[in-house]
Amino acid sequence: MYGKGGIGKSTIASNVAAATAEEGYRVTIIGCDPKGDSTTSLMGGERIPSILSYLKEGNEIKEEDVVHKGYNDVNCVEVGGPEPGIGCAGRGIIVALDQLKEESDVVDNSDLVIYDVPGDIVCGGLAMPVRKNYVDMAYIVTSGEYLPMYAANNICRGLTVLDGELGGVICNSRLNNEKQEEKIVKEFANQLDTKFIAYVPRRNKVQEYERQGKTIVEANPKHEVTKVYKQISNQIMNLKQTTKPNPLQENKLRELTRTI
Ligand code: SF4
Repeated sequence: MYGKGGIGKSTIASNVAAATAEEGYRVTIIGCDPKGDSTTSLMGGERIPSILSYLKEGNEIKEEDVVHKGYNDVNCVEVGGPEPGIGCAGRGIIVALDQLKEESDVVDNSDLVIYDVPGDIVCGGLAMPVRKNYVDMAYIVTSGEYLPMYAANNICRGLTVLDGELGGVICNSRLNNEKQEEKIVKEFANQLDTKFIAYVPRRNKVQEYERQGKTIVEANPKHEVTKVYKQISNQIMNLKQTTKPNPLQENKLRELTRTI
């Protein structure tokens, strides 16, 4: 799951993990961010130690140290990240993922492995895992604002260079003009030649539950946003066809976001 930093990928990733596990699938979520917060709402608000924190101290990793059972038995893993000011270029992730594969079979034994990473232009989390065949399919999270769409378009450029597969685009709403934002991101997906997966409305309850250490899927199974996460999970688990994205020219992208 890729998208600009701060666009709400971790919220989407953890909720989709929870919704998919509820359907009886075995799910693993791997967060890649120095903040290490991809998994906290599945872990009752607790932060788990990252793989890189063990490796940095020169320790061998053991499965029980880095794979933690979260809500509905979702396997929660955090890669961690470099020290501030030191680039990672995706090397840290590859070391971490290779070690995880060596020490544990959770990845091989899962029906769905969600990898939650910024993957925008400054992050090596896109290129390296795609090159090393860790990514079967990318999903992009964006809102209808220019900067997240710019990052999303760049991710598509990256996927084109890397010959990566795109599952589709998820709109995580940030604006007040809901209908217009949905329309813009739908049109964006259309112009990229990919699937528009879903529109996730912005509701305060989601953050409220996160502060309690829960996903909305766990805390409020009947909420309208929970239903959207269930739809996303269903689409991901039943996607028949991937796409090769067709990134937009800069002027087209600007034109599209100006309509809001
Ligand atoms: S891959 Fe991206 S998110 Fe992960 S540690 Fe490196 S720069 Fe940070």
